[in-house]
Amino acid sequence: MSLIVQQVTKFYGRQKALEDVSFHIRKGEVVALLGPNGAGKSTMMKIISCYLRPTSGKIVVCGFDTATRPIDVKKCVGYLPENNPLYHDMYVKEYLLFVAGVYRLGKAAAKRVDEVIDMTALTDEHKKTIGALSKGYRQRVGLAQALIHDPEVLILDEPTSGLDPNQLAEIRALIKEIGRSKTVILSTHIMQEVEAVCNRAVIINKGKVMADAPTSELPLMNRSGSVLSVEFDRDVELDQVKKIKGVVEVLQETPRTFKLYSERDSDIRADVFNFAREKELVLLTLSSKHQSLEDVFRDVTR
Ligand code: ATP
Repeated sequence: MSLIVQQVTKFYGRQKALEDVSFHIRKGEVVALLGPNGAGKSTMMKIISCYLRPTSGKIVVCGFDTATRPIDVKKCVGYLPENNPLYHDMYVKEYLLFVAGVYRLGKAAAKRVDEVIDMTALTDEHKKTIGALSKGYRQRVGLAQALIHDPEVLILDEPTSGLDPNQLAEIRALIKEIGRSKTVILSTHIMQEVEAVCNRAVIINKGKVMADAPTSELPLMNRSGSVLSVEFDRDVELDQVKKIKGVVEVLQETPRTFKLYSERDSDIRADVFNFAREKELVLLTLSSKHQSLEDVFRDVTR
């Protein structure tokens, strides 16, 4: 097991950021920490990287307890913080040699810096100052510094935020490649990123774990039960649709199209049909909707 998080709670003064959070990550997994703004993702990542102490609970990284062996934890963790703080006046190679020095790589430093420059495809840009790089390339420098000591676990806090679509695709491909040999935990709000890069997602909301499952299984975890897409031939009042027997919640997409949520295992198709007949509406569409990861996210963080 690369990471064990056990009943972690964190208060900033009176502000609760995490409450009784537990999850495990096996070696080689690429796991998304998913949640809306303020959910506690960055706090969790800072705690795992030993930049913050939890108020209570236990974290074990690569067999080392963060409370008693923080130096050993830092040796096996590479951390790319949110907003990727870098020294903009330094040259790329100079900065990476500096980071290698912090990790006391000694004589191995120069070779390792060349390796990570190659790994993160920074070769063409490595003679520039960091301030002169595009945001995508700066993100590569952030990844390179996180990889410099060849850590087993990589923690990436919103690694693709603010990137254009091309840079986004490149950084995602790079993370996927890195994920072949390392355990990766990344935080994001972007569902496509989770589907493209991660094999598991832990969804947190208001400091609590709401779901933890392989990304392929999350869409099956719909708590609201079934979802039906319905289209009528003319406009219908939302309040009327809400009264259909068995409907728990309604999402109005257009004046004529709705998503109807019902309890798990209940089949409300006959009730929708009867509703349409009573109101003299023609039912143009009545289909079960496949749950996307985004639906699940909205469902569990609502
Ligand atoms: P985002 O997606 O916006 O980055 P997040 O999921 O990373 O959010 P955190 O930054 O961990 O969330 O914040 C969790 C909660 O803790 C929020 O309510 C936030 O305001 C609070 N918080 C974070 N850092 C501090 C701090 N240094 N002092 C006080 N409260 C804080």
